[in-house]
Amino acid sequence: MRKKIVVGNWKMNMTFNEGKQLVDDITNELASHSSDHVLKIIAPPFIHLAALSEKIKSLKGFEVAAQNCHHLSNGAYTGEVSAAMIASTGANYVIIGHSERRLYFGENNNLLAQKVNIALANKLTPIFCIGENLVERNANQHLEAVLKQLKEALFHLSPADFSRLIIAYEPVWAIGTGVTATVHQAQGMHNYIRSEINKKYGKEVSTTISILYGGSCNAKNAKELFACIDVDGGLIGGASLIANDFAAVINSVVK
Ligand code: PEP
Repeated sequence: MRKKIVVGNWKMNMTFNEGKQLVDDITNELASHSSDHVLKIIAPPFIHLAALSEKIKSLKGFEVAAQNCHHLSNGAYTGEVSAAMIASTGANYVIIGHSERRLYFGENNNLLAQKVNIALANKLTPIFCIGENLVERNANQHLEAVLKQLKEALFHLSPADFSRLIIAYEPVWAIGTGVTATVHQAQGMHNYIRSEINKKYGKEVSTTISILYGGSCNAKNAKELFACIDVDGGLIGGASLIANDFAAVINSVVK
């Protein structure tokens, strides 16, 4: 059985007090429903990581992720945060390759491969984002685009290391836009990703790795997306900032 996972990516939102309140509200919203079958991961901004790690990890079934890490272990890189620092806060996960990092901070597959390596070396689980942009989708080149990301950023890993990853398929045109991939598009791509992983790493790795969907996933559409056979949960941006929406997304994961 693959792990079912929902990740809330707060991006650059939430002051410390707002973040604490949101965690309390999410816990209250979830209290009446069993969500034990879902691993719930919250990714606050770096600045809250240490304090919120303690709070979030005391909740059953919750873990904490950073939203990014530097690709080197330490040094004169003002303003940056290393994988070792993240691990020292109690966070066990890190989002790598989010399209906003690729787009606004120029992160390419070569750099992202280094981030994955350093995250794994520090015992963090990378939540690695891949996805095509609108031009690629409209040109019917979405499969090639995603395969290139897999090959250049991840396929250097050994099977043992690759199986430690969580993959998030996030079509760039669906992130923060209110446009969601159809069930057909999401299932089609998740199945394709799994088949490419199968070709490279074999059946055991490809059938056990969790592949999440991300891109305007919310309380209204999560159920049908999560019902897809190859979709193992979601990476949630906007809807993770509203307690009852995020709880509804979590409760949409089928047992
Ligand atoms: C994201 O940030 O990864 C994301 C999927 O955002 P949203 O849910 O807002 O589209």
